[in-house]
Formats: sequence, structure tokens, C-alpha cells
Amino acid sequence: MLRIGSHISSAKGYEAMGNQALKLGANTFAFFTRNPRGGSAKEIRPKDVEKFLCLWKEKGYQKIVAHAPYTLNGCSDREEVRRFARETFASDLERMEYTPGNYYNFHPGSHVGQGSEIGISLIAEMLNLCLKKEMTTTVLLETMAGKGSEVGRNFEELRAILEKVDLEEKMGVCLDTCHVWDAGYDIVHNLDGVLNEFDQVIGLSRLKAIHINDSLNPMGSHKDRHARIGEGMIGLEAFEQIINHPRLKELPFILETPNDDAGWAAEIAMLQKAYH
Ligand code: FE
Ligand code: FE
Ligand code: ZN
Repeated sequence: MLRIGSHISSAKGYEAMGNQALKLGANTFAFFTRNPRGGSAKEIRPKDVEKFLCLWKEKGYQKIVAHAPYTLNGCSDREEVRRFARETFASDLERMEYTPGNYYNFHPGSHVGQGSEIGISLIAEMLNLCLKKEMTTTVLLETMAGKGSEVGRNFEELRAILEKVDLEEKMGVCLDTCHVWDAGYDIVHNLDGVLNEFDQVIGLSRLKAIHINDSLNPMGSHKDRHARIGEGMIGLEAFEQIINHPRLKELPFILETPNDDAGWAAEIAMLQKAYH
């Protein structure tokens, strides 16, 4: 069984997310911990979480992959933006403890012209302030397309962040197929080579999840525009290799494709069928 799901709205709480995942044929999913464009988080109802945890346990399903809001930028040049990032990050990590042992994925940030070295230091600083020994969540750095001044445009930048984090055992990486393709990694013709490079630079043991998206743009375009699976420049054949690759096939795969529910259900079924 492929571990696969899509993004699901968190508006109605955890039990509703679980039920929606089942409806789509998913066995994992991603959700925004709060409005993706920022803002406050909804109150967590312990009974609602409990029902979700029961459902997941009964089904034998494994980890879910929460996503931080896009507006969270721990390496901004403005202190108020960095403070919002720290406070949101810390609060999200506390909330994640209602569902222990899962993943919290975030975009490293944009250095807005300060340079990636300063960006990397500021991101690590935020992580060192927010990560606590007693937390059970694994925080995932997402590989980025390298749009604008995004940090995480290559594997080296992610390693540089990881090296500065004190509680490195709490950290992992989420590889977004659209983003690495747009960043210039040829996962279509040289998947083994890209994974070897990831292994040498970061270590494949750090790779915890895959965002599975096709890309509207050619390799190296640094654009970050997602396409449906098989409808972009990565193409269905490459995705069949990716989901079946011996070093990836046990990981959770999250769709962030431009779709409605029927579209996601169809993509999940299609990829499940292509899995062996
Ligand atoms: Fe993302
Ligand atoms: Fe992504
Ligand atoms: Zn993206």
C-alpha cells in the first residue's frame, strides 16, 4: 500500500479531516495548522482530536504531515516578522503535541536580500528557540524552488540549517518534487543521481516525506507552479519511478496539486494502482 493523501481543510477539526481523508481513499494527509496566509489558529478540542486518533489507530494508518503557514518567515529583515514567525512556530509545535509523533513541515523562509548565509543563521536561531527536548514532533524543512530569495534552494542550504540546530534529532526534510525540479534537480532522467546527491549532502535517513506535485515549468526555472500529476513537465512516468523507488516507497506522499476532491481521489487511486 502506498502511503498517500492530499492537503485537507482543517476548518472542521481533526475528526472531519480523518473522515475526509478516508473519503478520498487517503491513508495520510497534510493540513495547514492555521490560515495558510497567516492569522490565528482555531482552538483545539481534545475530544475531537481523540476521535481522530482512534480512527487512525483503528485503520492502522501512520503519520500525518502538518504544514506551517506560508507567511511564516523566520529570516525576514524585519524583527516583527521574525517575532510572528517564532511565536507561530512555537505555538504550532505546542498544538502538534495533541497528535504526538507526527510531522510539521515548513518553508525555511526568504532572506529578502540579506543573503542566504544570514537567512540560514536566522532560521536556525528560530529553530533553536522553539524546539524542546520533550517534544515528539519531527520538524521538516521543505526543499524549495529557489523563487526570489527563498532559502532551501539546494540541498547544501538545508544541510547548513540542520548543522546549526542543537536538537538535530528533531529535524528532517520534506522533498517537494515540483520544487526540486524547478530548483534544477533532474528527477526525470536521473532520479538515482539526485537521491545519491541528497544522501551525500543531507543523508537519506533525514528524508521523511514527499510532496508529490507535477510542475508547469521546465527544470531549473525557479518558478514553483504546481501541476496535476502527469499534466506537467515531470510527467507520469517519472512519478511511477518516484513512488516505487526502493529508497522512497515507504515514505508518506502528499499531493499539493491544483484539484478538487474528485481530482484528488482520482490521483490517489491512479498512484495507488501504479504502486507495486
Ligand atoms: Fe509547502
Ligand atoms: Fe510543497
Ligand atoms: Zn510549491
